[in-house]
Amino acid sequence: MLEIDNLVAGYGGVPVLRDVNAKIAAGEIVGLLGANNAGKTTLINALSGMVKPISGRILFLGEDISKLTPQARVELGIVQVPEGRLVFPEMSIRENLLLGGINAHARKHRPQQMEKVIGLFPRLGERLTQSAGSLSGGEQQMLAIGRGLMAEAKLLMLDEPSLGLSPLFVQYIFEIIDRLHADGLTILLVEQNLNLTLRHARRCYVLERGQVAVEGDADTVKNDPRTRSAYLGL
Ligand code: ATP
Repeated sequence: MLEIDNLVAGYGGVPVLRDVNAKIAAGEIVGLLGANNAGKTTLINALSGMVKPISGRILFLGEDISKLTPQARVELGIVQVPEGRLVFPEMSIRENLLLGGINAHARKHRPQQMEKVIGLFPRLGERLTQSAGSLSGGEQQMLAIGRGLMAEAKLLMLDEPSLGLSPLFVQYIFEIIDRLHADGLTILLVEQNLNLTLRHARRCYVLERGQVAVEGDADTVKNDPRTRSAYLGL
């Protein structure tokens, strides 16, 4: 579904990602791991179009999307659930969800998508008219994922969904991720939490200083000494 080819990208012409190569097949959950500042967020920002590539290519369903705007990528089904959740606190839960489905393609199916999201997160359904700012951190994470689903994601990119959540909410959010995967959604899971990611993603990439240090199935990544050194910055 997605192919990243020798990608170099960064800020103000200064590379953060250096020659990144990666692939995601349809229906996979792929983990993207790495310590603070390894470049994980920069990589998903490059996939969603928020960060422009300096060189290299990104192919989605066979099409070179490297030069497409973020909006055009959302239309194709590449949807990012950002770190820190970034819901609109003054707006209601319903309005936040509807905004997720505002692109031309998703707009036509908003009522059906809304029903699906509420089925997945009944807690949101019970509180549709309340402001998003009144939700707990875990509930805001549900809303952010729900908003991503409203956009009719084909590739859902989750940036640190466990960040700042209580263990119970982390467990709940990961059960939802497993359910979405079982329903056939392709997921890129960006996490600092190594063990949690290895439990849910069949394949992982470990980034270290903007480069892929380790890649492979969960066992390979777990047992590779470079994974540990990438985390400890040795
Ligand atoms: P974290 O887990 O802490 O979010 P990360 O692996 O997602 O880390 P990035 O946020 O991608 O890492 O940061 C990688 C590097 O890019 C860091 O050195 C960071 O300082 C730099 N960087 C990130 N955002 C910007 C920006 N907007 N402008 C300039 N440099 C940036």
